[in-house]
Amino acid sequence: MVFHPAQIIIRKRDGHALSDQQIDALIQHFSDGSLPDYQMAALAMAIFLQGMDARETTTLTRSMLESGSTLRWPDDGAIYVDKHSTGGIGDKISLLLAPLLACQGVRVPMISGRGLGPTGGTLDKLESIPGFRTDLSESEIQQVVSDVGCLITGATESLAPADRKLYALRDVTGTVPSVPLITASILSKKLAASLDALVLDVKFGSGAFMKTQEEARLLATSLVNTGTQLGLATSALITDMNQPLGRAVGNLVEVTEVIDVLKGEGPTDVRELTLELAKEVLTKAGQASDDLEDHLSSGRALERFEQMVVAQGGNLEQLPSPAESSELLAVASGHIQSIDSEQLGLVVITLGGGRQMMGDTIDHRVGLEILVRIGDAVEQGEPLAIIYSDDSDRRQAAEEAIGEAIQIGESAPPSNPLVVEKI
Ligand code: URA
Repeated sequence: MVFHPAQIIIRKRDGHALSDQQIDALIQHFSDGSLPDYQMAALAMAIFLQGMDARETTTLTRSMLESGSTLRWPDDGAIYVDKHSTGGIGDKISLLLAPLLACQGVRVPMISGRGLGPTGGTLDKLESIPGFRTDLSESEIQQVVSDVGCLITGATESLAPADRKLYALRDVTGTVPSVPLITASILSKKLAASLDALVLDVKFGSGAFMKTQEEARLLATSLVNTGTQLGLATSALITDMNQPLGRAVGNLVEVTEVIDVLKGEGPTDVRELTLELAKEVLTKAGQASDDLEDHLSSGRALERFEQMVVAQGGNLEQLPSPAESSELLAVASGHIQSIDSEQLGLVVITLGGGRQMMGDTIDHRVGLEILVRIGDAVEQGEPLAIIYSDDSDRRQAAEEAIGEAIQIGESAPPSNPLVVEKI
């Protein structure tokens, strides 16, 4: 086939579907450096504006997967599963789910990312633990998964490299929020881990990428259809992210909350969603899920988490203490009406707990505890949040921003379920 990238870009710009050969050629030339970034960026914008149909999305995903290698597992009959979340404020579920599922006998090679924008990243949270390594090589990944049953690490250079290159372009060209591009990006990396089943936590609301349930449903449907087409048993839960998940928002504070939940304590919403996602992926993988609650209450899941931390070089005994704290008090009595969760994520970044730019260093000891949930009755003067930072000026600014993010009104608003739909 003669390769004319400009003509392919024009076809997409004008709303035509691309053939499988055209998509494969674009990704191959982009991966080997013979398609310049400016043409790929133009194509990303054409896809952003015109969309892609299900066949094109599936081909793009497969092509990006084939730009790199896949993880290989021993032929011993073990089942490999994973979860991906589209990201939310206080979303620490991955840290719980990996050890919990490993207790159930499945293997969990969890390849995770860093936070950019208001939602935190799983790798950043884990790096609150002194020594914890998130850059395991392929052979280390195989070793830890075989020894412990689970791990959480960053993508290696060879897993879906086309995604890494394309994501960097999308990030600076306003083309991240595109359903086909997000689908291909997420699934090319998950497929590279050679899984048997995948569950997606697609979030909507004030603290999520997708602001409405309808948008979340579109993305979830695209992810489930594409994963299934490519031979991966995939399902999705659509979950409400109009308030933080649990109390802790930040890095160290979230790790501490994870340990509480692994001890059978901690916020009920975190526990509930962890169990729902675990059940969903086990069902997809054809595995039993009867003992999940017992793994949490017996301390087995905590033990597995500790084993994973040690295997990845971390030391929980040396967990630092949180930064200095102050409380935000309610200015009026009433009921909590709404919580602008995105605002809370931005506050954590301002405190130094997230990145404004790729490469910024993170202060793991700063963060927030949000003590109220939508619908709660509060009295004037009652604490609404705890702010952790050694810098008192930043704490003061954070108090003001959080005060604006948490709205108090007269009557209790209707309560919403956490898991609203399954795809
Ligand atoms: N997460 C990803 O891995 N890719 C996207 O495009 C968006 C979120």
